[in-house]
Amino acid sequence: KSVEIKEELERNLEQLELINEVQVVMTGCFGLCEAGPIIIVYPEGTFYSEVKVEDMKRIAEEHLLKGRIVKDLLYKEALVDDQVKSVDEVEFYSRQTRIALKNCGVIDPENIDEYIAKDGYQAIAKVLTEMTPEAVIEEIKASGLRGRGGAGFPTGLKWEFTAKATGDQKYVACNADEGDPGAFMDRSVLEGDPHSVIEAMAIAGYAIGASKGYVYVRAEYPIAVKRLKIAIDQAREYGLLGTNILDTGFGFDLDIRLGAGAFVCGEETALIESIEGKRGMPRPRPPFPAQKGIWGKPTLLNNVETYANITQIINNGAGWFASIGSEKSKGTKVFALGGKINNTGLVEIPMGTPLREVIYDIGGGIPDGKKFKAVQTGGPSGGCLTDEHLDTPITYDDLVALGSMMGSGGMIVMDEDNCMVDIARFFLDFTCDESCGKCTPCREGTKRMLELLDKITSGKGTLEDLDQLETLAYTIKDTALCGLGQTAPNPVLSTLEHFRDEYEAHVKNKK
Ligand code: SF4
Repeated sequence: KSVEIKEELERNLEQLELINEVQVVMTGCFGLCEAGPIIIVYPEGTFYSEVKVEDMKRIAEEHLLKGRIVKDLLYKEALVDDQVKSVDEVEFYSRQTRIALKNCGVIDPENIDEYIAKDGYQAIAKVLTEMTPEAVIEEIKASGLRGRGGAGFPTGLKWEFTAKATGDQKYVACNADEGDPGAFMDRSVLEGDPHSVIEAMAIAGYAIGASKGYVYVRAEYPIAVKRLKIAIDQAREYGLLGTNILDTGFGFDLDIRLGAGAFVCGEETALIESIEGKRGMPRPRPPFPAQKGIWGKPTLLNNVETYANITQIINNGAGWFASIGSEKSKGTKVFALGGKINNTGLVEIPMGTPLREVIYDIGGGIPDGKKFKAVQTGGPSGGCLTDEHLDTPITYDDLVALGSMMGSGGMIVMDEDNCMVDIARFFLDFTCDESCGKCTPCREGTKRMLELLDKITSGKGTLEDLDQLETLAYTIKDTALCGLGQTAPNPVLSTLEHFRDEYEAHVKNKK
């Protein structure tokens, strides 16, 4: 649809002989999915939403030719008491801090010049001409950046471990195998700003002593793959990837590997197996990838969003980054807001922002005046939080303390009509389906849990079944080989803790 809209706008601009005056730029996702397709007219930042092909004539004639804003096409919150607000003043955006998403929705991701015009490739130039590899690692450590893929491991430490590991060849890898239901943060970064990831991976290569990198991306993300390929070719053409980057003698290049849609390939060792061309199944750890990763060589693996922070840490300094967020969770986090919420879309907020602000102020609250019931963070590995947790600051540690987790950034909101047992069953069905089958607790245990949930939700369960469900959940958590199995019971455990009455209602009311 957006392509048709762009073509129609250009047709109108040609007719009005404005095609050389107005630059029409196709960007990546701008975040507010609810209001798409979006057109923003700069420099004022006039925010048109839910535009249609037939609206282009008016936007071209009225706004772009005559300078009159087409008020009925403005985003609903961009017009208050007949006052027009720019996109940056609309609450959905004004409460966000965009670091990883800085260029998404702003630049043409298929044009390296636009990325360069936004300070792109300045960080790699600085690193290669002014910093030693050790200084780069110290800077990342000082920033306090933690992995955005789920576990929250300190990124600088990971870089240091890989730098110190011995090996004639090392690799840098990017996990773009985003598989959580409802999560699309990494996809948006790759579609909207692929050079930020490429540049960060080259910086990582310099820091750890690697000359080769892989981006492992889902084949179900064809636009992300296409834009990444274009960006890699452009970076090579500009001498920003290859054997002699910026004539400094440092060489680094990238390849893309496509994943076939297995959730378990988001687990780092399964991802490595898959890059090597094998079936994606986790390996026991240790050894960790920092010691033995791709082809048995030391490998640094971060996810897309983690890399998307790197260039700005280098450009603006570790102190700047560390000043954002909370004491132990620095910087920002991107969340994919979905479910029963008015403003579905992508949001990037400083760590420590309370859940309430994300759901009500940025997310616009619950549709149709319904009551908020719960929010699921961390996707199938996370847990559900209730209204008593709404003032919880969003940090790695606060979420874990409540039995949930940050995860990669899925945030699904439930209202009073949702049955929490059904929600738990949905996530368990997903993980059960995605279990690779390598270890018994996960392969067999998740199936038995699902059978028990089926029994309970069909009104045939007993109170003993609830106890058995809980025991099984803890056993799987303690004994499964990889993160998928270890976290699969989380949605069941957190709903059992916070909504046990709903489980009991199924059992007692026999439905
Ligand atoms: Fe495979 Fe599940 Fe075991 Fe992980 S926990 S290795 S996904 S069977």
